[in-house]
Amino acid sequence: MTAKIIDGKKIADKILSELKSKIKNSKQKPGLALVLVGNNPASEIYVNFKEKTCKEVGFYCERFNLDKNISELDLLKLINDLNQKPNLHGILVQLPLPKHINEHLITNSILPHKDVDGFTSLSLGNLMSENAILAPATARAVLHLIESAGTGIEGKNAVVIGRSNIVGKPVAMMLLEKNATVTICHSRTKNPAEHTRKADILVVAVGKPRLIKKDMVKEGAVVIDVGINRADGKIVGDVDFENVKEVAGFITPVPGGVGPMTIAMLMQNTLTAMELAKRI
Ligand code: NAD
Repeated sequence: MTAKIIDGKKIADKILSELKSKIKNSKQKPGLALVLVGNNPASEIYVNFKEKTCKEVGFYCERFNLDKNISELDLLKLINDLNQKPNLHGILVQLPLPKHINEHLITNSILPHKDVDGFTSLSLGNLMSENAILAPATARAVLHLIESAGTGIEGKNAVVIGRSNIVGKPVAMMLLEKNATVTICHSRTKNPAEHTRKADILVVAVGKPRLIKKDMVKEGAVVIDVGINRADGKIVGDVDFENVKEVAGFITPVPGGVGPMTIAMLMQNTLTAMELAKRI
């Protein structure tokens, strides 16, 4: 069997072009504040992409490049100012933050209706109670890509590898909400292959190049690779793509899978945030 490739870039481009037409003639444009602290090269690339996409789609965007030594208090003050600005509907603080800044505190200083990353405790709590309004963009991207395969989610065995608050846990919650039987594996899981071989849907969000090998994957499975790693001078995922595609039914490539879809979902969340602002 050779897997069908789930083309995240193509699906994302379609969503972005729909967003573009939707706001083309509207008086108000969705506005996004992008906050970057320091000069982590990967973070700079992600923020550049988000800014570029905002411009392409016709959203308003303000970018704040802050010194890596900024104090926690000054960062809180900036977010407080952004919270008050009516033309900025969404606020995104690019993670990770420098070690002297408490990420949890900063994330939670964003007003819930402007939390387009869906990382505040309230947004994550809403997800747990099946009331998500602004869910984390990567998790939404993963669900969208699984649904695009058309094999369904209800009643399926879904295995999520990785339990981070921003990817693994939200993905697991969203799959549970769609009535999958969900298993979460992590760094302390003994013999993860025992679980992955039973997975109809396998989502990998670990950050280890080509961790998932062909013999760990069930024939015909839908495999979603969230990982972004540098190996052998290129970007690769957490799945050994070349070999796993021989057994999987559907698979996302890296790059060109979850990455572009995450940005499309972020743009959708920003539009949702603008709609929410009208109701407040
Ligand atoms: P994280 O470091 O916060 O979490 C990694 C998780 O993997 C942890 O829960 C850990 O328990 C688990 N883990 C570590 N080693 C393991 C092993 N050997 N077997 C099983 N589980 C193991 O990372 P994260 O923020 O969740 O990101 C994961 C990956 O996804 C990274 O490569 C990151 O760059 C990528 N990512 C991509 C996007 C995107 O838009 N495509 C968005 C967010 C994160």
